[in-house]
Amino acid sequence: MITSIQSLLRNNERFVEEQLQLDPGYFANLSEGQHPAFLWIGCSDSRVPPDRITGTQPGDMFVHRNIANLVVQTDMNLLSVLQYAVEVLEVEHVIVCGHYGCGGVKAAMGEAKHGLIDNWLRVLKDTQQYFWKELMTLNEHARFDRMVELNVIEQVYNLGKTSIVQEAWKRGVRPWIHGWVFDLSTGFIHPQTGMINNDAAIQEVCKFHTGVVGA
Ligand SMILES: [Zn+2]
Repeated sequence: MITSIQSLLRNNERFVEEQLQLDPGYFANLSEGQHPAFLWIGCSDSRVPPDRITGTQPGDMFVHRNIANLVVQTDMNLLSVLQYAVEVLEVEHVIVCGHYGCGGVKAAMGEAKHGLIDNWLRVLKDTQQYFWKELMTLNEHARFDRMVELNVIEQVYNLGKTSIVQEAWKRGVRPWIHGWVFDLSTGFIHPQTGMINNDAAIQEVCKFHTGVVGA
């Protein structure tokens, strides 16, 4: 594990050297602009680096991360990223990716107080309450995993219902939206939703959301 700040700068020099060896025009090309096909909405967790786990390179993916990969309709930061990605960059896919073992989800499932962050995580308590009938039948470990999955589906639903995505779909423009869960213990990504690019498809998620499937 790297702990010294100097190591980061040394690694950066090595990165530049290696890239230039592979392609002398690499940084010149990179500085010309970006045309990413993907927007990634993921957790801030240090163990879930989107580029590493998907094999993407600089320029491939526009990224927004927050604790527990939440899509909150009043979050100006997320909405700005989403609007820019969908309307200006015209990304084809928006991925919400959670992960098993998420500290944010775990904190929301417990009773301990953590300060300001509890406000951010409050919506997860609503999800837990909403799906309690299903969750209560599971043991502690399975319940935690299931909450991570339900949270991703919930956030996909929230994403599909933003005015930005709704307007894009109305214009017949992508994005496809996807809900994934990353498994830290195996390294594999598990899709939780199909590919969604219209209101009917989001209603399928909504069916889940309203407890028809989850109940
Ligand atoms: Zn997390």
